[in-house]
Amino acid sequence: MTSNFDIIVIGARCAGSPTAMLLARRGYRVLLVDAATFPSDTLSTHVVQPLAVERLARWGLLQRLQATGCPAIDTYAFDFGPFTIEGRPGTPEAPLAYCPRRTVLDKLLIDAAVEAGAEVREAFVVERILIENGRVVGIRGHGRDGVSVSELAQVVIGADGRHSSVAVAVSAERYHERPPLLCGYYSYFSGLPMNGRFETYVRPLRGFAAAETHDGLTMVVAGWPFAEFEANKADLERHFLAAIGLVPAFAERLRGAKREARIAGTTIPNFFRKPYGAGWALVGDAGYNKDPITAQGINDAFRDAERCATALDEALSGARSFDDALGDYQRERDEQVLPMYDFTCQLASLAPPSADMVALLGAVHGNRQAMDGFVQMNAGTLSPARFLSPENVGAIFAAARAA
Ligand SMILES: Cc1cc2nc3c(=O)[nH]c(=O)nc-3n(C[C@H](O)[C@H](O)[C@H](O)COP(=O)(O)OP(=O)(O)OC[C@H]3O[C@@H](n4cnc5c(N)ncnc54)[C@H](O)[C@@H]3O)c2cc1C
Repeated sequence: MTSNFDIIVIGARCAGSPTAMLLARRGYRVLLVDAATFPSDTLSTHVVQPLAVERLARWGLLQRLQATGCPAIDTYAFDFGPFTIEGRPGTPEAPLAYCPRRTVLDKLLIDAAVEAGAEVREAFVVERILIENGRVVGIRGHGRDGVSVSELAQVVIGADGRHSSVAVAVSAERYHERPPLLCGYYSYFSGLPMNGRFETYVRPLRGFAAAETHDGLTMVVAGWPFAEFEANKADLERHFLAAIGLVPAFAERLRGAKREARIAGTTIPNFFRKPYGAGWALVGDAGYNKDPITAQGINDAFRDAERCATALDEALSGARSFDDALGDYQRERDEQVLPMYDFTCQLASLAPPSADMVALLGAVHGNRQAMDGFVQMNAGTLSPARFLSPENVGAIFAAARAA
């Protein structure tokens, strides 16, 4: 069998388009397919953290995002009721976050893949992953005309989200599994300016957050425990507004605003998948899924795209064996994200903070460097393993005692 393509990527959003772009830029013959057409929305809020923004800059795409008029975010504020911890989410090199509509971001990414030379087929539904002698060799699917075609490649990449057909076809091993913890629901409001701030409010068994996006709109997302998923879904508006009502000052700001879209949302499970095997690899949600409370999905998808493209280049160019190169991709992913995964699952439980955490938050409050560190941990800029290390925590308490 001869392959028409070096790589086929299924899914053309945050994970798939950058993966296809980076491989096409290295000269590989890439086919990128998606059942959707672009621009189109997807069920997701869309805070793009500073490290993801840094990746957009590295790929030459940040100016394009800025040219869409998306407001920059330079401050995150976490309001715990008695006090607020507020700081800078990024680094000097990557100080800003953005909250672009997925209609805008995903279109920008797929256009960049086309520009890089990838062949892109929108409205193309993959029906089957082709496997021969235990090795993935291609896909079978159809475009708008409904006629089924097969395409072959050396490697098929599943960038096809958490229900990944590639992962299902190869029975990719799942690990570190945790059940759904939280349900998140969001909508868009006009007349709710945020002035460069991403605000999060934490209350018992409730949390909500707001960030400004395109077209003068502000995205507001509220969450409650998964245990209330069934009971609350019949009246989302009431529960959404009740959560916000726990913070009267924000509720007052919302009363002066106008809701411009329906309330949408969902709940998702938490798990890792082994992201490679004979003839296949996974990037983005297909390989690693977690509650969106820490808004890490887009940055994780971008990181996978860079790392997986490098590993595949090493393997396809013969510099390293496929298993060595992709094995490192998996190891590095897991090492980097595990502390954030644990932190995310802890936050998503909406359990009251431990006495130690309450004491730490009290010591962080008012200490500029520690507040920036806390905010950077929540943004994924600084690993929770570093911020919560005994040395750093000890230094924060020492500074509080000395103050
Ligand atoms: C409620 C909610 C809020 C979130 N908020 C944030 C946030 O603020 N910040 C953040 O960083 N992340 C957030 N996330 C997570 C983020 O949405 C995901 O991590 C991100 O979209 C993953 O991108 P992806 O490209 O891996 O997958 P997806 O965005 O799921 O894209 C998969 C693509 O694959 C295509 N596809 C699937 N199957 C097939 C097939 N058989 N044939 C052809 N095409 C196929 C689909 O059409 C789709 O376009 C949120 C998620 C949810 C659910």
